[in-house]
Amino acid sequence: MELNSRQEKILKIVKQHGPITGSKIAEQLSLTRATLRPDLAILTMSGYLDARPRVGYFYTGKEPAEVLTSKIRNILVRDVQSLPIVIKEDTSIYEAIVKMFLEDVGTLYAIDDDRDLVGVISRKDLLKGTMGKNDIEKTPVSIIMTRKPHITTCYPNDLLIYAANQLIEKQIDSIPVIDKDADKDIVIGRITKTNITKVFVNLME
Ligand code: ADP
Repeated sequence: MELNSRQEKILKIVKQHGPITGSKIAEQLSLTRATLRPDLAILTMSGYLDARPRVGYFYTGKEPAEVLTSKIRNILVRDVQSLPIVIKEDTSIYEAIVKMFLEDVGTLYAIDDDRDLVGVISRKDLLKGTMGKNDIEKTPVSIIMTRKPHITTCYPNDLLIYAANQLIEKQIDSIPVIDKDADKDIVIGRITKTNITKVFVNLME
């Protein structure tokens, strides 16, 4: 349920000044008590406010489940994306491992000379790369990375819930956020399980 702007104002007043009577709220909004009655009824019925006779309205501190759900549904990828760590596709496996440690990330994105996204390199990809007879200082990450068309991407205006679903369905740790530039996929961000955990914690707090 979306609150209208008057209901939002009432909620703010009660949060700041509660317990407060209906007439006092009306006074602050320069409205009559009668005009406010339907809004107060909605806020009380939906669990935001509680009322005690002769005491007035007070904020319950509860957010109805619906409110939480609609908040989550409105979060976009661009609201929470973090900076991507990008390397050239001819970077050696050794250098990529060093980069992963220095940048403290779990996934690197590989680009070509035109800055087009061409690969994703995870921790396990790098582990795999060190297992064979590869000379890891000479072998490029292009040998071990996941390539197009198998790369899962998202856009800044996608819903975060869509990206979160992709992480689960594809069993991956991160998704590059892409800006389309002509035919090129320019990596401008990343969505990771950590981003999503942070959103979860913020909502709960
Ligand atoms: P790890 O392999 O370290 O557990 P992931 O679960 O993210 O990390 O990666 C699993 C596999 O999926 C790896 O081979 C990796 O290259 C690939 N991968 C990771 N992210 C993506 C993505 N966004 N799109 C496609 N493949 C990916």
